[in-house]
Amino acid sequence: MAEVKNLIVGCGLSGAIVARNLADDGQEVFIIDKKEHIGGNIYDYRNEHGIMVHKYGPHIFHTNNKVVWDFLTRFTEWQPYFHKVLVFMDGQFVPLPFNLNTLHCVFPKSISGKIEIKLIEKFGFNKKVPILELVKTEDKDLRFLSQYIYENIFFEYTKKQWGVAPDETDNSVLARVPVCVGCDDRYFQDKYQGVPMNGYTAMLQKMLDHKNIKVHLNTKFDGTFKYKNLFWTGSVDEFFGYKFGELPYRSIRFDFKTFCRDKFQISATVNYPTNYDFTRITEYKYFLNDKSENTTISYEYPSDFENGKNDRQYPIVNDSNTAIYAKYMELAKENPNVYFFGRLGDYKYYDMWAAAARALEVYEKFIKKQ
Ligand SMILES: Cc1cc2nc3c(=O)[nH]c(=O)nc-3n(C[C@H](O)[C@H](O)[C@H](O)COP(=O)(O)OP(=O)(O)OC[C@H]3O[C@@H](n4cnc5c(N)ncnc54)[C@H](O)[C@@H]3O)c2cc1C
Repeated sequence: MAEVKNLIVGCGLSGAIVARNLADDGQEVFIIDKKEHIGGNIYDYRNEHGIMVHKYGPHIFHTNNKVVWDFLTRFTEWQPYFHKVLVFMDGQFVPLPFNLNTLHCVFPKSISGKIEIKLIEKFGFNKKVPILELVKTEDKDLRFLSQYIYENIFFEYTKKQWGVAPDETDNSVLARVPVCVGCDDRYFQDKYQGVPMNGYTAMLQKMLDHKNIKVHLNTKFDGTFKYKNLFWTGSVDEFFGYKFGELPYRSIRFDFKTFCRDKFQISATVNYPTNYDFTRITEYKYFLNDKSENTTISYEYPSDFENGKNDRQYPIVNDSNTAIYAKYMELAKENPNVYFFGRLGDYKYYDMWAAAARALEVYEKFIKKQ
């Protein structure tokens, strides 16, 4: 194969953003993906029932980053959408993250009223308190609350999601679980929130629709590719032939089902910390308000990532895996014309906005070097 100037491995959000920026700059880009579709993890499609389904699980866009929002808005209109999640606990469906409405659903007024006052006095109204901070309080009622949330939501969910008990997971996982001292049931509070009006795949199609961009699907990177600059959004261990061992990930099996009824559940996503082997059920017609006499849902079953058998979903960030990643990054310094980024290249959990911001940053860094 002849040498290409800019080779991008991975046609997900990260790769597509760098491709478009290079193309707008007048540079030719060759982008490959081993999958049979563009979009990577955010790939969606309209199924035979007219419902827009997210193949790799529900994706809701949210950000406070105006640069990212404005960039993506060049390629799509947005359906305003505020995600609401319920959790099935103590036999009822209640709002998640745990907030004052949840508090009043799960405890009698005599208890919830007292705890509500203490939460507002200690942390302030509308503040988010990480569960780790709540666990540390001296107050016995607030400790009772933190224990309740920990046992009923967090403990079992973590075991299913990560395959280990919370005390064996990285503290950053626990730190991300907030209690909201307010009544806002939205899952995200960012300024910009929504779902692309015609789906994520259509948004990326438009981004890649440029005379300087050539997309090759069903194409896995191998040693035969010759390039001047390489933009790598695959897993970094794979690039280096697993020299220091495999970086561990969690994977998820999505079990899609369609039912001949208007709605399956009362919210787009319902989490099931206890009971059942799945972690959550998502009902897709909520996102774009699709009209269909059927409804499509997915059950999520987490498992370990096994190379060649399933997909990498969540990096398992802990001290030993971070140390393996750091060794690969040392090696990366010997390849200054190779740029590692994206959720796999950086071995980080990135929400879409963060993956997009990082891709824009990588492009800027590259341009400055030219
Ligand atoms: C279950 C789940 C739910 C999520 N929900 C949300 C959400 O609601 N909101 C939100 O903001 N974010 C969400 N995210 C995060 C979001 O999926 C990521 O931010 C985004 O997909 C990152 O894009 P990327 O291009 O970096 O990676 P990817 O989408 O993984 O793209 C990488 C691409 O590289 C290709 N590739 C890898 N190796 C090779 C190779 N050797 N040769 C050729 N091609 C290769 C892969 O096939 C893939 O297409 C979620 C993530 C998960 C796992």
